[in-house]
Order: sequence, then structure tokens, then C-alpha cells
Amino acid sequence: MLSKIAQNITPSATCELEGVVSDMKAAGVDVIGLNAGEPDFDTPENIRDACKKALDEGKTRYINVPGIPALRKAICEKLKRDNGVEYTPAQICVSTGAKQALNNAIMAVVNAGDEVIIPMPGWVSYVEIVKLVGAVPVCVDTKEDFQLDLDAIEKAITPKTAAIMINTPNNPTGAVYTRESLEKLAELAIKHDFYIVSDEVYEKLIYNGKKHECVASFSEGAYNHTVIINGMSKAFAMTGWRCGYTAAPADIAAGISAIQGHTTSNSTTFVQWASLEALEKNDGTIKEMVGEYAKRKDYTYGRLTGMEGITCANVDGAFYLLPDVSYYFGKKYDGKEIKDSFDFCSYILEKAHVAIVPGGAFNAPNCVRIAYTNSMPKIQEGLDRLEKALKELN
Ligand code: PLP
Repeated sequence: MLSKIAQNITPSATCELEGVVSDMKAAGVDVIGLNAGEPDFDTPENIRDACKKALDEGKTRYINVPGIPALRKAICEKLKRDNGVEYTPAQICVSTGAKQALNNAIMAVVNAGDEVIIPMPGWVSYVEIVKLVGAVPVCVDTKEDFQLDLDAIEKAITPKTAAIMINTPNNPTGAVYTRESLEKLAELAIKHDFYIVSDEVYEKLIYNGKKHECVASFSEGAYNHTVIINGMSKAFAMTGWRCGYTAAPADIAAGISAIQGHTTSNSTTFVQWASLEALEKNDGTIKEMVGEYAKRKDYTYGRLTGMEGITCANVDGAFYLLPDVSYYFGKKYDGKEIKDSFDFCSYILEKAHVAIVPGGAFNAPNCVRIAYTNSMPKIQEGLDRLEKALKELN
């Protein structure tokens, strides 16, 4: 019989949709994917070469659980340079993607029965990661433009609150949290003594002059109450490589390494050498990708807000927009009614062969998530098809 924890877990809606889209593509359907939470760019050549070199040099064995010293040192240098925070390599644990880093962090700071606050709309895995340790996710709405609602967060705090999981720039909203809101959040974390698990995987993907703020850098108190999560997937187009990390206060970092030592041990050795190359050499390629995303974001936003009934927050981070499409709920096609965001996305996939993700999967029931992780011509065609399909509803 399946365990209670396994029964309680909802499979990832985004991973499931990706499966449907691949099956359709394999069957020869010309699907335009505006669903994938991953860069459409290839991993840069120098990073691939560094991996091949590491393999040829026999860097294929078990290593220290928290990772190769050179990579942990480079991560510390990155955190100091980009985020203004000082860590020693002993405070860094390299993991199999930011996803494992998040799971490690929650296991290290949350007990069964504790509560973890999650601002919503939020990434599909946060609620499930909290449930995996037998803790209780406490979902709190964001306010205008998907910014943190500090009053709502304060009201949600109880003696059982062990942590809050934040993500800026945000998946699925694209919002970049303001410094002011993060400062207030840090004050609450210090006052009520809970951890901020700060997922910064989209930190490099910011447009129109907005700036990423790292909450751990604000004060000693904020630093002592924060676990930073970051990784290579989004910034360096390295999603399949599975390399992420945590930076945490020393006692928490030791707990994280101990936990990882009994799950996966070290993350893949030769991938760590490639990740070192990425951190040391690839700031330039990030800039090129960001320039391209910025153009796509402006175009996608312009097109969406030009469509009848659609409204959308004009956000400046990650590679997502989360338009409100509820104007179309209650409309019909082939005698079938579009009742919610799931029906809306099924219709668009079926009719227009465009894949987008239902907002219902992220606690945004009136919305859909559109990822501009496809080439400009594909985005243009995808949005043309979307607009045409919407006109056919009545
Ligand atoms: N955090 C957020 C907000 C994400 O959107 C994702 C991936 O979609 C991850 C973490 C996981 O990243 P990784 O590929 O490093 O496991």
C-alpha cells in the first residue's frame, strides 16, 4: 500500500504537460511549446568542453558530499561579487539541481507538523516539497503585480512557522520582489525566528533595469535566517546537467550535507567541473541570452494585452508571463464549455497546437503561464494561433 506521504503528493503539472507535448511532437503534430521552464539555448560550448575534459581526465569518481572545493570556492566568490554576501566553502553544498537543494534545505530547517508559508501564485514543487517532510504548506496570496503581501504574511505566522519559501524573480509570475518588501520580510523572520528559503535560480534573468536583491545580504540577522538556493539550470542553459547549491549558516549547511550524504551523496562529479567553468567564464553568454529574453518578453506582453479580454502584469523577471484569461471562462467550443484554466489550456493545445500551462497548477486559477523560452518566430506564430483560437470561442 502506498505510504501516506506518497498518496499526499500531487505529480508535477509542468512535467506531466511536457510529457503530453513530447508525445504529440513524436506523433508528428506541429506543437509550439510556450510551456517549458527551461532556456531554449544550447549549453555554451566551453561548458560542454569542460565536461568532456573532466571525463577524459577521469573525474568520474565519488567525491566529498558537498562538492569539489574549487566549485564551492567559486560559488563563494560569485555570492560575494553578485550578491554582497560572504560564505566559506564549508557553508556551500552542491546538489543535483536546485530542486534537490530546496528539498535539502526544507529537510534541514523544518520538522513534521511545522508550517511553511508559501506566497502564491508559486512554483508547483514548493507545496509538495513541504508535504514530503510531513509539514504543512500555508499558502498566502500576493498583492498587485504579484508582489509580496507583508500584511498577509504576518497574519499567517504562528508559533509553528518554521520557514517561508520565496522565489525572486518568480516562477510563474515573473515578478521581481522589491528591496523594501524583502527588508520587511527579513524583519519578520528575525522577530518570529523562522527561516527564509530564498530561491534565486532566476536571479540573472532580469529586464528593463530591474535589480535582484539577495535577502541574506541585508543584515547579520537576515543572513542567519536565510538559506540561499541557486543553480546552473536557468542562467547557463544547463537544465539537464542537474547542478544547484545551497548557501546557509554553518550549522544548517552541515545538516544539509549530512542529509545529502544519505540520499544522493555528491552531485555528478564531472558536471561540477563544467559548472566551475560556467561560473568562471560565462557571464557574457548570460548577457546575450538576457538581451534576447528581454525582446521576447516585450513582444509577448504587447501581443497578449492586445488580445480581447486578456490582462497581464508587466513584470520584469524570469521567462514567464501570467496573463489573466478568465474572460474566456464560460465560453464554448464544439458544445464544450471552458470552465477553468485547465480547460482553457486543453482547448488551446487541441485547437491551436500551442502548449501553455494552466494557472490552476500554481494557485492562479484565472491565469495561464506563458514561457517565452522559444525562438521569436515560434513565439510570433504561437501567439497568432492563440489569438485565432480565442476568436473562435463563443
Ligand atoms: N526553483 C524554481 C522556481 C524553478 O522554476 C525551478 C525549475 O523549474 C527550480 C527551482 C529547479 O531548478 P533545477 O533545474 O536547478 O533543479
